[in-house]
Amino acid sequence: MAGSTLRAAADRHWADIESSARDVAGDIWQHPELGLMEEYSNKALSGWLEAENFRVRRGAGGLPTCFVAEFGSGEPAIGLLAEFDALPGLSNAAEPRRAPLVTGGPGHGCGHNLIGAGNTAAAIAIARTMREQALPGKVLVFGTPAEEIVFGKLVMHDAGLFEQADILLTHHADYFNAALARPCQSIIQPEFAFTGRPQHTGVNRPQNANDAAELLVQLIDRLRVHQFPDVSVEHVLRYPAICMPSATPEEARVWFYIRHVDHQRAGQVLDIITEQAAHAANSVGVTMRRAIVSACRGYLPNLALAERIYDAYRHVGAPAWNDADMRFMSELSQSFGGPAELALDRDVALLTEGFDAYGQDDGEVSWTIPVGRCNWACPGSIPLHSWAATALFGTETGWKGASVAARTLAHAGVDLLRNQSVVAQAKAELAERAAGSPPSIKGNPERVIADPEAFWTGRWSL
Ligand SMILES: [Zn+2]
Repeated sequence: MAGSTLRAAADRHWADIESSARDVAGDIWQHPELGLMEEYSNKALSGWLEAENFRVRRGAGGLPTCFVAEFGSGEPAIGLLAEFDALPGLSNAAEPRRAPLVTGGPGHGCGHNLIGAGNTAAAIAIARTMREQALPGKVLVFGTPAEEIVFGKLVMHDAGLFEQADILLTHHADYFNAALARPCQSIIQPEFAFTGRPQHTGVNRPQNANDAAELLVQLIDRLRVHQFPDVSVEHVLRYPAICMPSATPEEARVWFYIRHVDHQRAGQVLDIITEQAAHAANSVGVTMRRAIVSACRGYLPNLALAERIYDAYRHVGAPAWNDADMRFMSELSQSFGGPAELALDRDVALLTEGFDAYGQDDGEVSWTIPVGRCNWACPGSIPLHSWAATALFGTETGWKGASVAARTLAHAGVDLLRNQSVVAQAKAELAERAAGSPPSIKGNPERVIADPEAFWTGRWSL
C-alpha cells in the first residue's frame, strides 16, 4: 500500500476528529485533578475510546485511575501514552493575567490535558485509518496517571502492562518543535520525616522537628557546591499537621527532587542526602524516617523512531499560529514578567545532541520498550509549571501546538504499522543501547497509592 495513500487517509481522519480532541482537552483543563485522583479525566478519555470501539480495561496494575485501551489485533502493537494529571496551586483562567479559578487549586500548567486528548485522538485516527485501509496490527492507548510525581508509568511498567506494546509514542509541550533522540534527566524523589516533641516555644524548644528539617536543607545547600555541583537538587518543606510558631511541630518533612542524566550519579546524591538527614536528626535529637516516592532513569533515545517521527513532523509542519495567537502569547509573556517580543521556535528539528533538563516517568519505560517522542514549542518566557502555562494550555492557541505534535504521532503510528522493519530496528537499537545498564532504584509506590490525598497533604505513611 502506497505511503502517500495512508498519509492522506491519516490526515483525513485527523481532520474529522480534531475538533472533538480540542473539546476533550478543554474539558479536562476545566477539571484539573492531582495525580492518582484523576477520575474525571480518566472517564473523559476512556469513554471516548469506548465510543470508538476500543476495548477498555480500567484500574489495571492496581492504579484506580489508570486504563489500557486497545483496537485491532496482531502485530505490531503501537501504543500511545495519555497523561492527564494537573499540578497543585496553578489554577488560572485562560486569560493573559494571574486569575486563579480556584485559589490554591490545581491547574494544567504542564499541558497534560493536551497530551491526554491529543495522543488519544492520534490513536483514534490510527484506528480509523487501519479499519479503512485494512492495515493489520494493534493500536493501544495507555491512560497513565500521576506523571507529575514521575509515578504512574513506573507502576504500570512493573505490572507488565506495557509489554503488550512493541513501540510507544508520546509528545509534550516544550520550547522547540522537534523529534527527540537525546536523553532527559533521571529523577529520584526521597521524602524525609523528622519527629520531635511538640512543646511551647516560649519556654523550651529542643527536639524541634522543624529545626532538623531546616538544618537538612542548609546542609544540602552548603554541600552542593563541594560535592554535587553537577546535580539538580530541589526541595519543599511539608508538615502533616497544621502548625503555628508557638508550638514546635511534632513532625516536619523535606521532599526532594534529585535530577541527573546518569541515574547512578543521582543515586550517589540520594546517599549523601540520607546521610545528612541522619546527621541533622542526631544534632537536634529527633528521629528520622525516609521513603522514596519514585525513582526512574532518563529517556533512552531511539534514533530509528526519532527519524520516522521527524519525517512525519516535516509533513505536518510547525504550529501555524496567527496574529491573534501571537498577540495572546505576547500579553501572557508580559503579564508573567517577560518580554513582549516572543522567543518562539517556528521550525521543525531532529535533536540528537545534549540532553533535556526535565525528567519523565516514560524515561524508565524507554529502557524496556522503544519510546518515540516529539515536542512542540511554547515561548521561552512562558515557562512550563507556571500559571501562565495553565492559561496557555486552556486556549485554542495552546491546542494548536499540541495538535501538530499529536497529528505527527498519528502519522508515525500508521507509518510503523506499514513498515514493520522499523519496529524491529527500534527494538534492536534499544537492546544495544541498554546493554549492561544497571536497573533503577526502587521507590515505595504502594504507600503513595494507598492514600493519594494523604500523599498530597504530606500525611502519607513514611
Ligand atoms: Zn509534563
